[in-house]
Amino acid sequence: MDLGLNGRTVVVTGGSSGIGLATVRAALEEGAKVAFCARGAERLDKVAADLARDFGAERVLARAFSVLEPEANTEFAAEVAARFGGCDALITNAGQGRVSTYADTSDADWREELELKFFSQIHPIRAFEAQLRASGAGSITAVNSLLAYQPEPHMVCTSAARAGVQSLLKSLAGELAPQIRVNAILVGLVDSQQWQRRYEAREDKSQSRAAWFADLARRKAIPLGRLGQAEEAARTLLFLASPAASYVTGARLEVSGGVSRFV
Ligand code: NDP
Repeated sequence: MDLGLNGRTVVVTGGSSGIGLATVRAALEEGAKVAFCARGAERLDKVAADLARDFGAERVLARAFSVLEPEANTEFAAEVAARFGGCDALITNAGQGRVSTYADTSDADWREELELKFFSQIHPIRAFEAQLRASGAGSITAVNSLLAYQPEPHMVCTSAARAGVQSLLKSLAGELAPQIRVNAILVGLVDSQQWQRRYEAREDKSQSRAAWFADLARRKAIPLGRLGQAEEAARTLLFLASPAASYVTGARLEVSGGVSRFV
């Protein structure tokens, strides 16, 4: 199936690692021009140099900033327009989860988490809205979490924020139609830098990486028996973001190995 991304411009927030990086690579493999951001300049520049070598510098644009800075998003959007002539697909992926129970979460933690989850959508969407409207095939695809529908007691504020983001995306799918489609993937557990950090902080340092991840999959009772790969999330994201999904909006697609319990 041709996704119809050849020659189009895809923007990925949080593109220097994990799901975001896999999505940047997959979009380049489809023939798209790709702009992406992350906060840490060192890792971002290294990744951008590798991608420029593999796919050509003229198709790669990387900028270091936090999506929580509104002006930086606006400047990035202007640069994408100047360099690539506009944006066809925005993938809002930047972020991370917060592990804490209700008892452990201070008011400041709540504010920080709600700001991250909501404004990591709102700022980039506002910055790219005009370009997406003008595209003729505009799409926004968010990386959200299964926690939106299945809250976990050890991730109380992330779960609540994720549910709110799903609501926001549903509203946007109506308000931005018909020019811009808005969809989300719901990630379960995908092997990425986030899980690598948790593996490195494990209590039993004698446990190998493979054994630790296998144990995690067992404890979480993932029907497919393993964590997902970043590339598996990336392929789903790109499909929803692409003209191949031209009649899909306001939808959510699980990338979770079947671990959800809701219908
Ligand atoms: P990674 O930590 O591997 O990648 C996160 C990326 O986002 C990095 O490039 C990071 O770079 C960037 N980033 C983080 N915060 C910001 C910010 N404020 N502004 C710009 N860039 C930022 O994690 P994943 O690939 O796992 O995570 C991708 C998304 O998927 C996140 O939103 C995460 O919450 C979500 N998710 C992941 C799950 C999983 O199991 N992996 C489960 C559920 C949801 P830098 O730090 O340099 O800014």
